[in-house]
Amino acid sequence: MSDLAELPVRDDLRGQHPYGAPQLDVPIRLNVNENPYPPSEALVADVAAAAGAAARGLNRYPDRDAEELRADLAAYLAGEAGVDLQPQQLWAANGSNEVMLQLLQAFGGPGRTALAFTPTYSMYPEYCRDTFTRYVTEPRAGDFSLDPARAAESVLAHQPDVVLLASPNNPTGTALPLATVRAVLATAPGMVVVDEAYAEFRRPGTPSALALLAEHPRLVVTRTMSKAFGLAGARVGYLAAGPAVVSAVQLVRLPYHLSAVTQAVARAALRHTGALAAQVATLRAERDALVQWLREKGFDVADSDANFVLFGRFPDRHAVWQRLLGQGVLIRETGPDGWLRVSVGTPEENAAFRAALEECR
Ligand SMILES: *Cc1c(COP(=O)(O)O)cnc(C)c1O
Repeated sequence: MSDLAELPVRDDLRGQHPYGAPQLDVPIRLNVNENPYPPSEALVADVAAAAGAAARGLNRYPDRDAEELRADLAAYLAGEAGVDLQPQQLWAANGSNEVMLQLLQAFGGPGRTALAFTPTYSMYPEYCRDTFTRYVTEPRAGDFSLDPARAAESVLAHQPDVVLLASPNNPTGTALPLATVRAVLATAPGMVVVDEAYAEFRRPGTPSALALLAEHPRLVVTRTMSKAFGLAGARVGYLAAGPAVVSAVQLVRLPYHLSAVTQAVARAALRHTGALAAQVATLRAERDALVQWLREKGFDVADSDANFVLFGRFPDRHAVWQRLLGQGVLIRETGPDGWLRVSVGTPEENAAFRAALEECR
């Protein structure tokens, strides 16, 4: 048995636990906001062929700058958000987690500060710890919204080098109005990162910060193929920003960070955008129905523009989580005390969740 405490590990890592929700083998897994639909047979075949073609060149290092993938991502965003971006404005890495780490490596660091608005994504403090960036937070309003005046006031108070704005936010599902993003851009002395991991699930009329890129060289929008694309296992995330931001992250990225196989798989998946969009529409409708059902049952439910729903409140949320698990339904005990988060699954999974929750009352 090795004992971590006996190794000369960094002081700030002592006593810490690795990030991660429990990966339990239960019938209904609604805990990590995955897309519940496995890839279609057509997508599987395309991915397999693309990986096979990439395999023939695996004696060589991959394209360091993933140029073809970045061009495909620009084309995808043109369709999804109606924005006209050049491939040099895109950057891809192993999940948006790696993109975010690279951003903090380039724009955070010792003596620098990142500001986020809580409750928010639980990885932000970890990226900050790993890049020696000071992490400061300000609370969102009671309904988890963040209005422009409050946001600007917080930015002015902290003078952060990086502002992290998740929109739609995890674990609350709340999207930010562009007025809030604009207010932050107008006051922030440094970079403003809008984490749009769940953007494809936003309700009609909810804008994307991608629309602001043309006017703001210090704005970065991050996205991922893990959620809407149902490609969490492939590890592909990306950012859109001014070309200078891409130049900055290229300084800190590891050489050949994105494997040839990953690049090929991502490009294959991007060829199936049409079919995936239909699936996302189903998930959005299921999300709206779930919000409505929970409200009818008398729960407090946060408005959601994502593929999950935060609901409560429970005097003992752990007991509810445990009772659901006892019925084979795994959700997430996260967010403010008293609340639970459930990912939107297939109609069958959502029905099983609703039935199990009724049993818990
Ligand atoms: C899931 C999620 C991500 C995506 O992580 P990947 O590394 O791309 O899988 C990023 N930000 C938030 C807020 C998330 O919930």
